[in-house]
Amino acid sequence: MADSASGPSAKRRRLLWSALSLLVLILLSLLVWLANRFEVSRVQDRLERDAAEAVADLRAGLTRNLQNLQSLQFFDPNSLAWREAAQELLRQRREMVRIEWRDSTSHVQAFVDSPYRAPVFEYLGRTGAGNDVSQTCSSARRQNGAAYSSSYFSLQSGGLGLELMDLCWPVLTAGRQSGYLLVSYSLPDLLSELVESQLSQGRELSFTDGDGTRLAVHGSVLRAGREFSTRSLLELTGNTLVLRLDSWRRAPELFPNVLTALVAALALALVMILWLLGRDTRLRLRAEHDLADALAFRKAMEDSLVTGLRARDLEGRITYVNPAFCQMVDFTAEELLGQSVDAPYWPPEFAEDYKKRQATRLAGNVPPREGFESVFMRKDGTRFPVMIFEAPLINAQGDQTGWMSAFLDISEQRRVEELSRASQDRLQATNRLALVGEMASLLSHELNQPLAAITGYVAGMRNLLQSSTLKEAEVAQVMQRVGEQAERAGRVIKSVHDFVRRRDQTREAVSPQALFDAILPLLNLQARKLSVQVQIRLDPELPEVFCDRTMVEQVLLNLARNGMQAMDFAGVRNRRLLLQARIADSDHPGEVEFLVVDFGVGIDPAIEKQLFTPFFTTKPEGMGLGLSLCRTVIEQHGGTMQFVATQPQGTTFKFTLPRAAITET
Ligand code: ADP
Repeated sequence: MADSASGPSAKRRRLLWSALSLLVLILLSLLVWLANRFEVSRVQDRLERDAAEAVADLRAGLTRNLQNLQSLQFFDPNSLAWREAAQELLRQRREMVRIEWRDSTSHVQAFVDSPYRAPVFEYLGRTGAGNDVSQTCSSARRQNGAAYSSSYFSLQSGGLGLELMDLCWPVLTAGRQSGYLLVSYSLPDLLSELVESQLSQGRELSFTDGDGTRLAVHGSVLRAGREFSTRSLLELTGNTLVLRLDSWRRAPELFPNVLTALVAALALALVMILWLLGRDTRLRLRAEHDLADALAFRKAMEDSLVTGLRARDLEGRITYVNPAFCQMVDFTAEELLGQSVDAPYWPPEFAEDYKKRQATRLAGNVPPREGFESVFMRKDGTRFPVMIFEAPLINAQGDQTGWMSAFLDISEQRRVEELSRASQDRLQATNRLALVGEMASLLSHELNQPLAAITGYVAGMRNLLQSSTLKEAEVAQVMQRVGEQAERAGRVIKSVHDFVRRRDQTREAVSPQALFDAILPLLNLQARKLSVQVQIRLDPELPEVFCDRTMVEQVLLNLARNGMQAMDFAGVRNRRLLLQARIADSDHPGEVEFLVVDFGVGIDPAIEKQLFTPFFTTKPEGMGLGLSLCRTVIEQHGGTMQFVATQPQGTTFKFTLPRAAITET
């Protein structure tokens, strides 16, 4: 049941957990990826901004250069002043490699080379560039302003080369065009001189042509890791240059910045929490499982109990009953729960007593640990005896929350006890009858004497009557004798009759003397037959004992008879039976001890253990019930029975009985 119920739910839980873990994982990866992308786009943005700034720098630089060039047009190109001014300009502006003054037919009138490098056109001259120059200048003339040529490669000495670009500026003198100022720019120097140095720090700045070939490069970096690149156009009159900015970031950079690191840390924390949560759930599930097991175990235990259980709160209301209790009283749990005084299983005739009992209990009186007896009523009105054990109900905090009671239906036990008592009684009666049977022969012998005497007196009487010498006084005397003998016979018969018929089983206070006196006539019958001398010894001031006198008399009679029989052997000289009663020693305080001492053959140690077993006997006509019954009777009275050897020979049986005075209080 439990398995089939927990199966699908466990599966669903596992599925939910997997889905949650997967979602969290996806979310976290997405977050890290986004953070990373954000970082990348930030780098890219910055690069683009820097590229735009570099373009702006270049444009500003070139414009400023144009303004500086303006001063040159006021000098005579052939004068020294022009040369000096041009040289000064070249010294200031490293990116300019040569300034030429050309007349309107494009012939070079004067020129100055940069002092920083070898004249660029010295090696090969301006081969092939003439066309470009005239093209540039014609475009400048058309626009009436500065125009730039497309870039070109100029071979230098030593196999080196330089990418150059020309600027042609038409010079106007008195409103007429008088020539051109031609400036050659070195592209690499444009980059290094005009662009703010921090823009190129750690980056590579280059001019490229349309297909991406690098024309001039500035700055060198470690080309490692991820490459970021951007292009910007530097649009000049007559030429458009492509400025490319490259940067590299070391790879792999898992946490490129604080944001990504933070997100990653948060993600890690989340995963951790998820794991802890999972573990917690697992532990809780296990605890729940254990609890369910414990509950099931408790329930199984309760259900299998035959003991009825009932819990009551401090107000006396029933808070719990187990199935055994319901079965016992034949009410359902619903009918019982919440009930207080006048519970449905209280017999109406005892309800008042029970109410009082409950009140005492609720007042905090602890009931006896060994339990007490009571009577309950089933739904159909039948009464049955129960044994109740009560204990305070203590909760986990150690506070009392009510009372827990356990009930045992003792009707069956009572029935068995009744049966065993009945069979005991039957056995007692049987034993008694056997004793009587035994005595019948003794009785006939005993009765013979008074009867013979009576017969004798009657015969004498008849003779006297025939001889008619009868005197009144003699008749009266004979009649008295006959009466005495008849009385004697009657007493003998009555003693047996009393013994056999007495069946009242009430316990009463009896003096030991009375017990001995009652059995003495019967005892004497046998004693005479077996030639045994019976002695009775009683301690002075013996208290009375509390007992069922019929039973105890039978015990004494049984023991005395056994003792006499043990002496009925040829070897036994001292045929003496001693019946004694005395105050018991300190082992049995408040009790009176009875002893039956014989000087017979004694008991063989081999049979000692079987002595009290019913039907154990060594006598041919014995029944073997005597000792076992004796012990049962004594134990029922709360006493003990044992035997020891008599010195020099024989056996002493002793038993104890409670004093009347103590029992009655
Ligand atoms: P029964 O007298 O019918 O045999 P009991 O139960 O009275 O049954 O005695 C059981 C046996 O115990 C006797 O058969 C006898 O052997 C032994 N016994 C009892 N009392 C004495 C005694 N005083 N001395 C020796 N043997 C005894």
